[in-house]
Amino acid sequence: MASASINEPTFRESVDHMYNRAVALMDLSPGLAEKIRVCNATYTVRFGVRLRGDMKTFTGYRSVHSEHMEPVKGGIRFALNVNQDEVEALAALMTYKCALVEAPFGGSKGGLCIDPREYDEHEMELITRRFAYELIKRDLINPSQNVPAPDMGTGEREMAWIADQYARMNTTDINAKACVTGKPLNAGGIAGRVEATGRGVQYALREFFRHPEDMAKAGLSGSLDGKRIVVQGLGNVGYHAAKFLQSEDGSKIVGIIERDGGLRNPDGLDVDQVRAHIMETGGVKGFAGGEYVEHGALLLEEECDILIPAALEGVINLANAKYIKAPLIIEAANGPVTSGADAILREKGCVIIPDMYANAGGVTVSYFEWVKNLSHIRFGRMQRRAEEARQQLVIDELEALSASLKGAWKPSENFKTQYLKGAG
Ligand code: GLU
Repeated sequence: MASASINEPTFRESVDHMYNRAVALMDLSPGLAEKIRVCNATYTVRFGVRLRGDMKTFTGYRSVHSEHMEPVKGGIRFALNVNQDEVEALAALMTYKCALVEAPFGGSKGGLCIDPREYDEHEMELITRRFAYELIKRDLINPSQNVPAPDMGTGEREMAWIADQYARMNTTDINAKACVTGKPLNAGGIAGRVEATGRGVQYALREFFRHPEDMAKAGLSGSLDGKRIVVQGLGNVGYHAAKFLQSEDGSKIVGIIERDGGLRNPDGLDVDQVRAHIMETGGVKGFAGGEYVEHGALLLEEECDILIPAALEGVINLANAKYIKAPLIIEAANGPVTSGADAILREKGCVIIPDMYANAGGVTVSYFEWVKNLSHIRFGRMQRRAEEARQQLVIDELEALSASLKGAWKPSENFKTQYLKGAG
């Protein structure tokens, strides 16, 4: 969302303010702090695709924030408002997020200025493959250097096209599949990646509700059961977070904010039904199970226990921070609370679970997908077999060792069975 006030810093500046606040608590030399903060490089590409009988020009970006570890990692966003400031801010967040969860990646992010709803599937494939081609030939998509993933406006379908484009351009690369994560299962993906970010939001909240002293800071007590939640954005992250919290933790989704407006129901909205309505009609308007609110963003200021902004950056800003009533905000999106709003909210006693922790579930599972692609081991049955074979090897080694020690010790049957069960 565009800055809501002239005093509002840009997204990039906002991320840097938060970084500076963290650095102030650390023992870093100013020179090193500056080196970590800056974005190493941002590549801008403009390319043409012949569509509907005419040439259409697109602008895209891939920003590399830090290569302290390679490959660098981060999604590719398809949205009309994509710009350099945004991809650089998002790339910086990826560096910090990966460091926090110890995913061994540097930070990167990409974006294409496009409204995907304006194009049919075939056109989207042409555009995505052409964008991928531009990035691949500059090693900005590469299994060992830069590994994209889904983000706003992209998903498994786009990742499959990107992986295929890379494979066509690198026919001898045995690790080609690891050039991108978030692929469909049948194209080298991993079970659970689609819902991973939403699942991570749920787990972060569960963890918060295990710590009474933190809950008390927000004036909350009890469990997630019955807690009133407002969620902004019923895309991949918001939908899964809301669905899991509703169906597995007993939370009540009392508000949903979407592009075309919001829905309110103090008794709870059925997340799956709302999602089905959006799929069918393109928005929340006309949904029978809740009251329609035309200016959806007003629901950010609704009385509730937990606010989950799961859409765009900067939606909680200097203009509306003082009206937010939720005592707990979990940043499911990247950067939904600006640095100025953060200060206002903290002053009011609101607790904010930050994006770099709250939405790290996606890149965490991406890591396992990447490892799976590089190891060429199928997780599940094949992995279990490999593990068992490895354990048998250890037992054989021990037996050989004991034989060479003239039978001083032999692994017992109990040891063998325990070891084979994984207790070793
Ligand atoms: N786009 C996601 C994020 O912002 C996922 C990144 C990834 O899996 O590499 O964290």
